[in-house]
Amino acid sequence: MSTLEIIGLRAGITGKEIVRGIDLSVSSGEVHAIMGPNGAGKSTLSGVLMGKPGYEVLAGSATLDGVDLLALPAWQRAQAGLHLVMQYPTEVPGVRVHDVLAEALAAGGRDTGGLDDRIRAEAARIGFDERFLDRALNVDLSGGEKKRNETLQLAVLEPKIAILDELDSGLDIDALRACARRVEDLSNERAMGVLVITHYSRLLAELRPDHVHILVKGRIVASGGPELADELEEVGYAAYTAGDEVEPPAARSALDDLFAL
Ligand code: ADP
Ligand code: MG
Repeated sequence: MSTLEIIGLRAGITGKEIVRGIDLSVSSGEVHAIMGPNGAGKSTLSGVLMGKPGYEVLAGSATLDGVDLLALPAWQRAQAGLHLVMQYPTEVPGVRVHDVLAEALAAGGRDTGGLDDRIRAEAARIGFDERFLDRALNVDLSGGEKKRNETLQLAVLEPKIAILDELDSGLDIDALRACARRVEDLSNERAMGVLVITHYSRLLAELRPDHVHILVKGRIVASGGPELADELEEVGYAAYTAGDEVEPPAARSALDDLFAL
């Protein structure tokens, strides 16, 4: 059982606080969704947790099974079991996905035997064309192909906790379904903990969250179950963006639906 524990996290870029006090705990096998409008700080939160350069941590902590993530360089956070699927995957000329995965597994003292077969099996599972496997990482791939490539890496590396920053952006509906199901399977079968960041609830139709959190202006302003995502689909973020900490609208009841008829 692993836990990513975020307590009172405040961070930003020099002179601007973007993540303004976040408390969140994600354990093995749980799926937490963070939803929020553009500019809410979702990507900043994921970058700060993974150790993307350029951010300043102002307060709070983030630990994975007690290991202080914020004190480590990004590669050691990965070795500790954290993995980030980036909103905009990086192109790495001259390096194939096989090279990346072989290095990552070996650095963690893990078995690289049969890696080629594992990569091919994962590619088939999410409909990622095998001919892309020999190309340099993400080079000359479409947005959707990059996201499939990222999902493939996640599935081979099997981190304890995965953060998915807008996995849905750039994916067509079939690819979205395939990738979301793959992540859902990893959560169910390998007990991977998932923090999935998205604007839209359509991703969550396949990757069912246990908990949904709404992030506005760097703070979680509401938390609930999957019904919160459905409600957002209906009412949008307007009810949450009026002030920093507003009361969420009352959840719709079966009675409301009856009177709406
Ligand atoms: P989201 O992913 O929720 O859309 P981001 O975390 O990307 O939001 O950005 C949150 C806010 O911080 C935005 O207003 C964005 O312009 C700003 N921001 C993020 N990174 C930087 C940066 N490196 N330099 C300046 N502003 C930034
Ligand atoms: Mg973002």
